[in-house]
Amino acid sequence: MSKSPSNELQSFISVAKDHPFPIQNLPYGVFQAKRAPFPQAHIGVAIGDFVLDLTILASLGFFPSLQGVFDQACLNPLMATTPKQWQQVRQKISALLASTNPELRDNPSLRQKVLLPHCEVTMLLPVKIADYTDFYSSREHAVNVGTMFRDKDNPLLPNWLHLPVGYHGRASSVVVSGTPIHRPRGQILPNPPEPQPILAPSRRLDFEVELAGFIGHGNPLGTALTIDDAEAAVFGMVLLNDWSARDIQQWEYVPLGPFLSKSFATTISPWVVTMEALAPFMVEGPSQDPEPLAYLRPKIRRKSHFNIELTVKILSKLGLDPAIICRTNSKNLYWSLAQQIAHHTIAGCNLQSGDLLASGTISGKDPGSYGSLLELSWGGKNPIKINTQEERKFLEDGDRIILEGYCQAPNYRIGFGTAEGLILPSS
Ligand code: MN
Repeated sequence: MSKSPSNELQSFISVAKDHPFPIQNLPYGVFQAKRAPFPQAHIGVAIGDFVLDLTILASLGFFPSLQGVFDQACLNPLMATTPKQWQQVRQKISALLASTNPELRDNPSLRQKVLLPHCEVTMLLPVKIADYTDFYSSREHAVNVGTMFRDKDNPLLPNWLHLPVGYHGRASSVVVSGTPIHRPRGQILPNPPEPQPILAPSRRLDFEVELAGFIGHGNPLGTALTIDDAEAAVFGMVLLNDWSARDIQQWEYVPLGPFLSKSFATTISPWVVTMEALAPFMVEGPSQDPEPLAYLRPKIRRKSHFNIELTVKILSKLGLDPAIICRTNSKNLYWSLAQQIAHHTIAGCNLQSGDLLASGTISGKDPGSYGSLLELSWGGKNPIKINTQEERKFLEDGDRIILEGYCQAPNYRIGFGTAEGLILPSS
């Protein structure tokens, strides 16, 4: 037994080596068939170019101990079962799809019923999102923004190295990949620093590449999750684009933080990648100096960060081959997801099943790894090339932003798919 069994596991459905959805992944999503046979939303798992329909499998008695979990249009009932049950469901699906198991492999009429080509379904928002919090956990991003907007000699505020800074986002405007985004309008200063605003469509519309976790099990009001228990509370992860109107943000954010500059829309990828699938790709985070307070320090030193390669592309309405404008990695983050959760609950705030916690813009050290146009174009001073003919400082109408992410193993990838959004003119 020298090799890990998960490396050797194969499905009877053929999956290319660089495909995001091998049998080692099995992310959950909610989908609707584009045509008949059924109009309502079902729950599925991605396997190669197919979606395995768990709602139909459940109706055939495949999950006898999970009555009612797969007949809803969201993953919330599944997320609210126990972590032990998450593991059992995953094992059962993995066994059903394994190349060695004839149960589905050799049953064409069952395959016809429960395996749909990906191109024949529309993906929906996977979770009824309870609350949404966005952190600010990349040191490089915070330094870049602090350098541009405040003080290049002192870019980090005094609290930044002591706590994972965050703000309360808006859950109702989180949308699934593919949902078009109207350019927001709001108060902006046409002649900064002259403090006389106008109401206008944002002229500095931006993306932020982020990773986000869905809480499966929260904590009662008035209690806290310890840092050592924090990760077990998470059901899975998605890619997240925190669309940001920089001109609205710059005028409104003092003193209580971003408001309308962020709440007009946030895009997530449709497939929720489980913590179990991500576990082999955990790595140690950066050393933290100054040492954070005890509640932010794990008792056992363990791998706290995710080694996920992230890229961003802009496809303009000219339709030319897009360049990758950002390559970054979530291991670049300073604060871990476990630290974010421990901090979020330390004052007694109750996290709930279905809460979404985003990392903050993930920037790395070199300019090609900056996770927003604000940083890539350095506040609009240095336009960047997005294809052979065009440059951008900020987003234009007709631009499509495509986030992509994956973990690389020697023989397979754990992919997230994409989180995409097309910019429409202000409505
Ligand atoms: Mn953000």
